[in-house]
Amino acid sequence: MLAIPRLARDAWAGALDLVFAPVCVSCRAPVPTTLPDRVVCQVCWARCRPLPAPRCDRCWGPVPAREDPRPKCRTCGDWPAAVRSIRSAYVMDDVPRDLVHALKYQGWEAAAAPMSARMARIAWPRDVSDEARLVVAVPTSRARLRERGYNQAALLAAGFAAGTERVAAPELLERTRATATQTALHPSERRANVARAFSVPARQAPRVRGEHVMLVDDVWTTGATALACSEALLEAGARVVSVATFARVIPELERLG
Ligand SMILES: [Zn+2]
Ligand SMILES: [Zn+2]
Repeated sequence: MLAIPRLARDAWAGALDLVFAPVCVSCRAPVPTTLPDRVVCQVCWARCRPLPAPRCDRCWGPVPAREDPRPKCRTCGDWPAAVRSIRSAYVMDDVPRDLVHALKYQGWEAAAAPMSARMARIAWPRDVSDEARLVVAVPTSRARLRERGYNQAALLAAGFAAGTERVAAPELLERTRATATQTALHPSERRANVARAFSVPARQAPRVRGEHVMLVDDVWTTGATALACSEALLEAGARVVSVATFARVIPELERLG
């Protein structure tokens, strides 16, 4: 057997490390392999912003800063009372957007673990922490599942459930029809696009009955998808639904650029 000189072997290993060294999904800087999280660098994590205050207690949407402690929220004022609490880890801008895109469109499956770990740190009202036991993901269409190989929301839901000692139950919700991608739609069209697109399979209904279900998605944009899923869960007998997403689009911030 040909002995490869140790120096050459080390140099080769070093070169491989250089070629395949993990780089940050956002800034492309090398990420030290000693860190447990090899997807995003520490600098980029530090750039992620929590949702801005003042925000609505219930939905974390922006509310005007004024004396009245409980103005009717522009975002959640008309939602069913059984939709209890909406929370997101970060504002959907630079770094979170890169992460969401990497997971969703670039096949960067490994991004789900650090993303869901951040979601697991979200603080919830006491009743939500105490009651919400089942974690359900927004289902994707069969076509998208075939194309992507995984449902990004289901990966986040699994990580979030593990990180918060809840039970991941992706089978509790299914997509009953394909829908056009929401991205190009006006907010008013989004609700119609996803209305009745989800349901709880009849054989699963007994599991959601009376439960406070935690719904997980990657991004909250207008809430149309999450609300359509919530309606399906409530119709099947769930008592309450809360929603956790990794990022949230804040239109007020988008307008400011
Ligand atoms: Zn970075
Ligand atoms: Zn609200």
